[in-house]
Amino acid sequence: MKISMVSEHASPLAAIGGVDAGGQNVHVAELAKALAARGHEVAVYTRKDDRELPERVTVAEGYDIVNISAGPPELIPKDELLPFIPALADGITASWRHDAPDVVHGHFWMSGVASIDAVQQLSLDLAEPPRMAQTFHALGSVKRRHQGIKDTSPEEREWMEPWVGRAADRVIATCTDEAFELKSLGVDRSRISIVPCGVDTGMFTPRGRAETRTSRYRIVTVGRLVPRKGMDTIIQALATLKELGVADTELWVVGGGSGAEALGDDAEVRRLSSLASDVGVSSHVKFIGQVPRERMPAVLRSADVVVCTPWYEPFGIVPLEAMGCGIPVIASAVGGLVDTVTDGVTGLHVPPKDPDALAQALAELLPQPNILRSFGRAGVSRVRSRYTWERIAADTERIYELMMGRESKRTEALEAVRRRVVRSDGSGFGRSWAQ
Ligand code: UDP
Repeated sequence: MKISMVSEHASPLAAIGGVDAGGQNVHVAELAKALAARGHEVAVYTRKDDRELPERVTVAEGYDIVNISAGPPELIPKDELLPFIPALADGITASWRHDAPDVVHGHFWMSGVASIDAVQQLSLDLAEPPRMAQTFHALGSVKRRHQGIKDTSPEEREWMEPWVGRAADRVIATCTDEAFELKSLGVDRSRISIVPCGVDTGMFTPRGRAETRTSRYRIVTVGRLVPRKGMDTIIQALATLKELGVADTELWVVGGGSGAEALGDDAEVRRLSSLASDVGVSSHVKFIGQVPRERMPAVLRSADVVVCTPWYEPFGIVPLEAMGCGIPVIASAVGGLVDTVTDGVTGLHVPPKDPDALAQALAELLPQPNILRSFGRAGVSRVRSRYTWERIAADTERIYELMMGRESKRTEALEAVRRRVVRSDGSGFGRSWAQ
């Protein structure tokens, strides 16, 4: 199959950990790689955000990245990209005119807008235009609910996002919670499938190098440094944890800019640092900054526990990476974290924005090495059985086939085989089974 993914702000080539580069970049890169490994021809279309980028590059992972000129070739915050989406759609259409894909997969709502526009332009020339799947990665309705007036999304998102959901042939939700939200936005339930994000289980393994430990309990949190990731909840919990008698802790905050200078300039780092000093835990909190992908497993392996306490979370790849490394996860019971972290088995759930509940959970878990180990082991088997990229790619491929009508042909062929089996052996079981 020829597959074109559109990921307007999140290129697989970006350095991960900045404000607009996180899970979506990882998702698109890993899904493209796993689909290419299954023999598909995959190209990822993204906006050219650096003038040095070539127009098209084939990466070692076996797929192409196409950098489309749309707006200035520099980093632009994703919430300011909408004016450049028509140019992105035109650039994609021009490329598809030479080589049209069978399937288009939009990632994030603006990529959905560009994909629909490009497919429509192409449909004027083609008898069978490509089918389109859409993964939103985040929904504006949820963001607005939690961030209110602080939400910097363009106003148009409010109507364009549901429109993309209704226009796509198939919408892929990454968790149950998102499927319900999509339904409430008017997306027909029969066109929604759930396929979670995955994790590289060859990279995020329990065995391997770990960052040097100290004698303190190490709590690690990883994410783009934005308020909704709820890192302030963890800092506040450290203070309560001290009162509960667990004072020998250190919190590693991973993400944000790279280098001391970039971190010093980061408004969120300043906010979190001043909170830490207000609640008397400055000496317990260490800002690590942006960690490259290859170092991430060693960082996670060095933790006693990984904590993810966002206000809301469309999916959340970090808990899967921690579980892959055999580390228990304490997560707020929101969005994708409800599906991925099994409470009392691979970690614990706490309510969001509740430092006291988090402190209780940490106080319960940290001094119990046996429970930490057993949660860790359960996490490893959970991700290996459910969240490998191979499995996610196979599930995604099935959705593509369904859109192209191949799935129904396969079902018909299977039915025909079943009927033949019944005719040749004439067994009663087979006969009733075929009816
Ligand atoms: N990440 C990274 N380096 C960093 C910070 C984050 O490689 O310094 C990666 C992290 O390991 C994970 C992704 O960025 O793979 C974050 O994904 P998640 O779904 O947890 O959050 P999102 O960014 O989508 O909100």
